[in-house]
Amino acid sequence: MHALSKLEARRGIWATETEVPRVGPNDLLIKIKKSSICGTDVHIYNWDEWAQKTIPVPMVVGHEYVGVVAGMGSEVRGFSLGDRVSGEGHITCGHCRNCRAGRRHLCRNTLGVGVNRQGSFAEYLVLPAFNAFKLPDDIPDDIAAIFDPFGNAVHTALTFDLVGEDVLITGAGPIGVMAAAVAKHVGARNVVITDVNDYRLELARKMGVTRAVNVAHEDLWQVAKDELDMHEGFDVGLEMSGNGAAFSQMIKVMNNGGKVALLGIPSGDVKIDWNEVIFKMLTIKGIYGREMFETWYKMAALIQSGLDLTPVITHHYPIADFQKGFDAMLTGQSGKVILDWEA
Ligand code: NAD
Ligand code: ZN
Repeated sequence: MHALSKLEARRGIWATETEVPRVGPNDLLIKIKKSSICGTDVHIYNWDEWAQKTIPVPMVVGHEYVGVVAGMGSEVRGFSLGDRVSGEGHITCGHCRNCRAGRRHLCRNTLGVGVNRQGSFAEYLVLPAFNAFKLPDDIPDDIAAIFDPFGNAVHTALTFDLVGEDVLITGAGPIGVMAAAVAKHVGARNVVITDVNDYRLELARKMGVTRAVNVAHEDLWQVAKDELDMHEGFDVGLEMSGNGAAFSQMIKVMNNGGKVALLGIPSGDVKIDWNEVIFKMLTIKGIYGREMFETWYKMAALIQSGLDLTPVITHHYPIADFQKGFDAMLTGQSGKVILDWEA
């Protein structure tokens, strides 16, 4: 089968031919229709320090996709050939205490599709059937292809009650802008998003934020006070940049009793003013992945109730032009990039 693989321990990703993986008794064989490129795939492409110590070479990467069930193991129940699916990219062990308690997202032995095992930039993916999510017919393929990062946005955005609240999102990358759209959709009062990249801030505006602020040349708190009549601070913060300066800024503008969910992954140590945390009695919670599988059901319901994610998909290419897709991601002038296996 055709696949995109990290064939060599250097910058790049390459088209290759490889064996269709073996389908175990509890697995689905999924024929991929569309793939989407994740920031993680860009780390792997760039062969940064994290990728070098994490990714075995050669490795078929990728974990954002929509496809159809093309085969299944003898023990699989609940799926039929032809079912349209996306899938949870965190493969959990099923035997640690958290798994046994139903808290699969907290499994200590999680393996990542396209990180620790063969991924979905391929004609076929083999996935434990447990991880597959059967898609309702009214979820379009493009949207289904981005369910993995949409799930990060939904998991983070719905961690704290947003209804009627003033919400600050730092980082208008694809996940930040999707979280902003979710926050608006579920009834937040003001949704303010920050970035230093005007392309991304424009994307956030298309997704319906109250105000997109370029913190490189605007004063966030001044904007909140003068334009939005906010005088006390933000109720909920969603950190989605991984940038330490953004996190420190967020802590400063939170109201007393504010709640902060942290999704962005910093590349090194981040200094924060603990006095702000203590005297404001802030709650800070780290977020990893998606809840299995509550986040997936919520994603489907959000789309079915009219949440529009289409502006976040900015580029489409046939799989043969995958390099153009990676180039678009590398410029920072993109939202989600979709690669089509059938084009
Ligand atoms: P992205 O890198 O595309 O977006 C991050 C954005 O933050 C960029 O647009 C960047 O310009 C912006 N930014 C940089 N400095 C800033 C500052 N000072 N203030 C405000 N914004 C600033 O990333 P993404 O794909 O949207 O993902 C968001 C974050 O979530 C990343 O850090 C990613 O690694 C992380 N992530 C975490 C999980 C998890 O399970 N915890 C899963 C997926 C992604
Ligand atoms: Zn486990």
